Amino acid sequence: MSVQPTKTVAPYKTKKGETYMNPKQLDHFRSILNNIKLGLGEDIDRTVHSMQDDATVFADPNDRASQESDMTLELRNRDRESKLIKKINEMLAKINSGDYGYCENCGIEIGLNRLEARPTATLCIDCKTLDEIREKQVAK
Ligand SMILES: [Zn+2]
Repeated sequence: MSVQPTKTVAPYKTKKGETYMNPKQLDHFRSILNNIKLGLGEDIDRTVHSMQDDATVFADPNDRASQESDMTLELRNRDRESKLIKKINEMLAKINSGDYGYCENCGIEIGLNRLEARPTATLCIDCKTLDEIREKQVAK
């Protein structure tokens, strides 16, 4: 079974003098986010099916053990995916409320390029950098 790559949305082309986060831009990011969500949804369905299929196959204890660690890994992936889906839903809510594209910390525009690369970004690059420095200091 081949894995289909998630259909990508072509990068947004800004027109001169266009307002930041106008309805067209919001539509653009809404479809990017929905696309990611759809791709994740398919992955989760696939995991559930493959887990059901595998469950009856192995009788050998060694196979069972490796099957179990596969499942642990799958479940961990699914956990990460469900967190990402939650995040995407939050971003979609932000689009609807008009908060999308602005830094949660200082309120400035996050910028189209940054959002194009990271549609779930909630901080501007400056705040993100400071955040990472702070995280590193905590980890030490
Ligand atoms: Zn900021």
